[in-house]
Amino acid sequence: MHAVSAESHAIVESVLDYSRRRVLWEDVPLDVPATPDELAAQAPASITPGGIGAARALALFGDVLAPTCLSTDHPGYLAFIPSAPSRAASAFDLVVSASSIYAGSWLEGAGAVHAENEVLAWLAGEFGLPDSAGGVFVQGGTIGNLSALVAARDAARRRNREAGRPDPARWAVVCSGESHSSVESAAAVMDVDVVGILPDDDGRLHGHAVAEALAEHGDAVFAVVATAGTTNFGIVDDIAGIARVTRDAGVWLHIDGAYGLAGMLVPRMREAYAGVEHADSLIVDPHKWLFAPFDACALLYRDPQVARRAHTQHASYLDTLTEAPETNPSDLSVQLTRRARGLPLWFSLATYGTDEYRAAIAHGIDLAGRVADEIESREGLTLVRRPQLSVVVFRKDGWTRADYDAWCARLLGDQRAFVVPSSHHGEPVLRFAIVNPLTTFELLNEILDTLDDSQ
Ligand SMILES: *Cc1c(COP(=O)(O)O)cnc(C)c1O
Repeated sequence: MHAVSAESHAIVESVLDYSRRRVLWEDVPLDVPATPDELAAQAPASITPGGIGAARALALFGDVLAPTCLSTDHPGYLAFIPSAPSRAASAFDLVVSASSIYAGSWLEGAGAVHAENEVLAWLAGEFGLPDSAGGVFVQGGTIGNLSALVAARDAARRRNREAGRPDPARWAVVCSGESHSSVESAAAVMDVDVVGILPDDDGRLHGHAVAEALAEHGDAVFAVVATAGTTNFGIVDDIAGIARVTRDAGVWLHIDGAYGLAGMLVPRMREAYAGVEHADSLIVDPHKWLFAPFDACALLYRDPQVARRAHTQHASYLDTLTEAPETNPSDLSVQLTRRARGLPLWFSLATYGTDEYRAAIAHGIDLAGRVADEIESREGLTLVRRPQLSVVVFRKDGWTRADYDAWCARLLGDQRAFVVPSSHHGEPVLRFAIVNPLTTFELLNEILDTLDDSQ
């Protein structure tokens, strides 16, 4: 037996102490980005033959490096899609790290995988998928979309083989022009074509447009992607209409709900998502609107066996795992080794209960509606469209991109909020993405005040 050294104790204590303070910090600073030159000047070299020791490395992180990393959990972080992990989820992430669990296989990570599966089953039930549905937590929505589309194409290839039909010269995936860039990226990795359809005037992809695309591209199409909450606007496609078309055509329906599918956990929002129950696969990111830390995407399949056929890696050193009867998480995505990245969400859900989750998500939707009302009531501001979920897009009348950039830089400089301009039909716009239960109407109202010329 080796006794744990005093040095190890000191290292672990100091890191846990730092983590404790950060997770329990009430007024977390937003912090300020730095250029590579600034960091090169401020951060002394830390990789040396003898090491600089934990105390100096931790001080370097706390004093120099961390202050240049924006706190995505700050209530004023409203850019992109923020992350607002619950304290339970953030704290439990440390447990996941400390436990050295290999969660790629059931054999090695049974209990962790069991708990992750319980969360996945709960989500599947909420989304109306059958009991046989199953999945895996992968790194993020990009990997989730890629894994689902790879499974979809594999299924289409197998169908062709069974029917004695040749594969098309080029495979194609159909999606809305408003779908997330990761669909395009997955298509590039898979070397398949993207048939992007302009959404209707309501911003949503509808069944009739999908039907036209399928009529034109026929057997080349192996999947249709519907978006349950676009990233820029939070728009949910007409999933029920699209699902009618994909079912008639026998084409795989994938729902990209990385950001917005969490909204379906709010009972009064369910109708907006009608049709999700027909998905062959779907994703939702816990690190976006399910209050879990980076990084995690829940990837669900209607029939996990289809994904298993597509994704299982075969190698002699893996035979013990692949020949086991249990489904291994690694068999369902393009990742092999994986951290039990669903556990922070599991612990948080188990701790607070699903009611608190529904209420926290509803907070973002309610707040977006209230801020939209406020914007409409203000002279000089124009709401671009009524928010459906928790993203509010608006314009300051007469402002150019340079005006927006300068205002955003000032907000961040004042450590009040992090907002970045977006664009709509080529016009610059402002965008608040609200997921943090600590973001208040008062804060957003103050931000709007700074747009008032008379101030
Ligand atoms: C964020 C997002 C993604 C990508 O997810 P990552 O976790 O960032 O990889 C995909 N689709 C939609 C709709 C998103 O909002």
